[in-house]
Amino acid sequence: MDDDFARLVKEWTTKPEFMSPLVDHLPKGGAVPSPKDILGHHIGEPKKLTYYGDLLKYYRALAAKSPRVKIVETGKTDEGRDCVVIFVGSEESIKNLETYKGYLAQIADPRKINDAQAKEIIAKAKPIYHLMGGLHSAETGPPEMLMELAYRLVTEDSPLIKKIRDNVIVSITPAADPDGRDRYTDWYYRYKINETSEQDSMGSPPYWGKYIYHDDNRDINYSQMPMRTLLNWYLQYHPPIIHELHESVPFLYTFSGQAPQNPTLDPILYGELPWFSNFEMSQMIKYGMPGVWTHGFVDMWSPGYLGFMSSNHNGMLRMYETFGNGGANTMHRRVAAPAGAGGGGRGDQTEREWYRPLPPYKEVDWSMRNNTNYMQTGVLSALQLTSSFPEIILENFYKKSRNSIESGKKDAPYGYVIPANQADPTRIAFVAGILRLQGIEIGRATAEVKLKEGTFPEGSLIVKRDQPYGRLAKILLEKQNFPDPSLRTYDDAAWTMGLMTHTKIVESADASILSVGVSPVEKYEPKGTIGASGASFYAVLDAGSANMVTLRYRLKGVNVRVAEAAFQAGGKTIPAGSFVVAGSDYDKLKAALEPLGLTAQALDAAPSVKMHDADLPRLAMFTTWGNTQEVGWVRYAFDRYEVPFDLIYKERIKQGNLRAAYDVILVPHQGRNAKGLVYDIEPKKAPIAYTKTAEFKFLGDYGSSEDITGGMGLPGVAELQRFVDEGGLLITLGSATEFPAAFGLTRKIDAGRTSPAFYAPGPIVEAEILRPTHPVFYGYTEKTVPVRYANGPLLTVPQADREQILMRFRGGDEGVMSGLMKGAAEVRNRPAVVDVPVGQGRVLMFATNPCYRWQNLGEFRMLFNALINHNDMAAAKAAVSPGARE
Ligand SMILES: [Zn+2]
Repeated sequence: MDDDFARLVKEWTTKPEFMSPLVDHLPKGGAVPSPKDILGHHIGEPKKLTYYGDLLKYYRALAAKSPRVKIVETGKTDEGRDCVVIFVGSEESIKNLETYKGYLAQIADPRKINDAQAKEIIAKAKPIYHLMGGLHSAETGPPEMLMELAYRLVTEDSPLIKKIRDNVIVSITPAADPDGRDRYTDWYYRYKINETSEQDSMGSPPYWGKYIYHDDNRDINYSQMPMRTLLNWYLQYHPPIIHELHESVPFLYTFSGQAPQNPTLDPILYGELPWFSNFEMSQMIKYGMPGVWTHGFVDMWSPGYLGFMSSNHNGMLRMYETFGNGGANTMHRRVAAPAGAGGGGRGDQTEREWYRPLPPYKEVDWSMRNNTNYMQTGVLSALQLTSSFPEIILENFYKKSRNSIESGKKDAPYGYVIPANQADPTRIAFVAGILRLQGIEIGRATAEVKLKEGTFPEGSLIVKRDQPYGRLAKILLEKQNFPDPSLRTYDDAAWTMGLMTHTKIVESADASILSVGVSPVEKYEPKGTIGASGASFYAVLDAGSANMVTLRYRLKGVNVRVAEAAFQAGGKTIPAGSFVVAGSDYDKLKAALEPLGLTAQALDAAPSVKMHDADLPRLAMFTTWGNTQEVGWVRYAFDRYEVPFDLIYKERIKQGNLRAAYDVILVPHQGRNAKGLVYDIEPKKAPIAYTKTAEFKFLGDYGSSEDITGGMGLPGVAELQRFVDEGGLLITLGSATEFPAAFGLTRKIDAGRTSPAFYAPGPIVEAEILRPTHPVFYGYTEKTVPVRYANGPLLTVPQADREQILMRFRGGDEGVMSGLMKGAAEVRNRPAVVDVPVGQGRVLMFATNPCYRWQNLGEFRMLFNALINHNDMAAAKAAVSPGARE
């Protein structure tokens, strides 16, 4: 044993009871390098954080010297770092990893085996237990702890560790957001290393990964590269358990899957979760460690958390929150919520409860090593349980996979139809792409399909529920019926894909869907069509595809006009919003349009309806330094759809002369309110620079500033006002829409708030389009559309200006299409989108967020339309829809 380790970790642990007999020692590994051999220090040393490159360096050194370790490369991050998974187990397990992988694959898809065969496989198989640290970059402890855990599992010969090594294959994601790990570590060394208390916290850098900060754990459609990479790995290895290691509440919370529980997941899971969390809690209390608890924090409703890839695929999601200091400093922490603070509805986490029999202390000196001790002891307890009952874990995994298939055969809905006769195949492609990414099987109907829900053409996509991931298909496609409005949920209450993407998806209660003849669909990539060359004009039909904006940008330099009304050509109706391009640009058009899945119609002559040029705007996107995440989702969508823009900050706004540089300034949803948008991060004693230096090369990406505090202030507001007065278009989304109302840019429009009783965790609600001819609604054919409720401001528009209201919320319980909105009457008929002329320009205000995560594709077009018709909104006919009533 390493005496130096034992002495130092004891010193770094702030109280004897914060240590356990599982982690108070570490073997000397001989030729096998310990973390200290590579990093120069033991794990948990104060003021030491490890860069991602050094994490990999350690694991690679370990793998090089031990036959008990294997590293699998899984892909790259946005910034080009390697994504890896590290396997740790007995030499036998690692040598035969492919064999064990094969066993798990057989259990994961039990259609080819019977119960007796499953039993034989389970007797030979071993569960993979996957651990994931560093998903949230400010939660710094898990990536450190995992290195020591890996080393311990490789080198220790205690009966417990040997049993784990023999019976379980442990796999590790060293840091799930590698780019963010480096950026945060730079920030820590630059600013946080001298923090001694919560009061002098220097927060986080403006960015972790490239786009989305902590929403990388809410990326339900796996848009981000490391998340997509991990899912791809998951579907090859099928670990029955994925365990996310987070940091927040004291001292260690272990997730138990409390209510509201997603009812579509297998009930076995809801037995397994408290089985594990109660075992960990009782073990750790036995070791004398206070503050370990379960229940009372995170619920089991949204399937969008990263580790849910496991429970969504019939495995088990696990999660810890361990107390952490956002760095590696030892700090005095006040844990008890101040009197009256309420703990965010979750109560005081230092109070004793039935699920918290030995509560955390109210004040504590907390260190990185405490964090390591708690988390590692918890994980070793979980691995102890797994290694004691490997066959139970595997049986459950098998049974849940089997149940998913059987449930699809006996419980309606039996499947889903995505009808082929929808005008826009690109939205079908979006949905099909995500279902396939998730491993869900899709078939293309080989003939017309007759079900009790209707008749669907040949070529329609069929998702049958009698498949291993049939439950997941249902979870993603069904309407969310929130079980109890008195419950709260940690993230979104709704995600129904058909509603989010405005794609028609028909749920079928007709069991005959299971026997519909289909050919399997690997990829659904509709190819665009355009007839022969030689016509004088071509119209690109606007069927609502978000790809229209990409086409416009790919045709940069080509004169593209937009038809302002529908017209007839070649026996077809060409919808309003369609692009009209001269026949002389045929080659460019064909090359651009085909891969985008769009359809063009030849025209004998220019259409007689009114048209305007689809001018490309000089576009800026504004972000505060303090809230870059929601902006990041818009940046991501714009990058995917090839919409170029300048990302600008307070520095550029305050420089002024904005109209000379930009036609459109977009202010995405960010921050809590208008004041936050304007004043942003509170100034500290000294400026806080976010810049690249020789020492800190990971800072200063995606923008840089000598001082990120203070916000644009009133001088910035004046510049934005001037921009609009001089003819610019200011677009605000979600919470940012409070800004033009509160600061008087839109003088007559007020922005209010819902009452404290109102509660709407992202439901999908109905909105009514009042001005269907407005360019914002090109591509939309229905009078009412589903939108995700974004908790934007409640807008009030004077009666005399009501033609400025382009869309409004229906409101009331009848307007809730999926999920939960409590107090829905408060939003009845409240404006959802308002187009306000101001000076020479205008302000387009969205109370919705038309670019929410990588999810509400159906709303993206409203924003894209605003870009390519930015200077043609005034011309649009101000006709109020005759059906609209107050
Ligand atoms: Zn976290």
